[in-house]
Amino acid sequence: MAKINKTIKTITVDADKCNGCRACEIACSSFHAEPKYSSVNPARARIHVITDRLRGIWLPIFAGEYTPAECMGRNKYIINGKEYDECYFCRASCPSRDRFKEPDSGLPLKCDMCEDDPPLEEPLCVQVCLNDVLTYAEREEEVDEDTVLDDAEIALQSLIDEYGMDVLLDTVNRMLQKEVE
Ligand code: SF4
Ligand code: SF4
Repeated sequence: MAKINKTIKTITVDADKCNGCRACEIACSSFHAEPKYSSVNPARARIHVITDRLRGIWLPIFAGEYTPAECMGRNKYIINGKEYDECYFCRASCPSRDRFKEPDSGLPLKCDMCEDDPPLEEPLCVQVCLNDVLTYAEREEEVDEDTVLDDAEIALQSLIDEYGMDVLLDTVNRMLQKEVE
């Protein structure tokens, strides 16, 4: 399998410093609005701050890959005496919950590290977090070419999983016909 060089971007989360202000969610949803910065809706953010005030938990989680299947089981974590519920740390857009799904279309949302042209110096959520919870870094790594899926492929895959390839192709054909007319 062919190898390509890929820039791996990471955001380290120091969750102990998070106060749940949700500025990161606001900035992310606004940045990804169409047109950019035209609206704010944290339900469209690619970062979600899990908030459990009774247990003193504020936990920023970034939207990861779409998955068509639920896990076979669930995990609980206890860290420094705090119990973290099932699914707290999971980044997937999956069928068992609404997290990381575009609220109108249901399509999966995925953190893109704020891909933009020209590129941002740092992802927007990192820039707006005043408590230094989020720290950005980059490194180069060799990866298999086939494993690199872009957002369009992920969205298409989720539509195929939900409606089937035949329905999707029929829909695309109908849309093309309308374009031609
Ligand atoms: S902006 Fe920073 S402090 Fe505020 S919720 Fe997000 S990660 Fe936490
Ligand atoms: S890196 Fe960008 S896309 Fe990802 S959660 Fe932060 S603001 Fe949203």
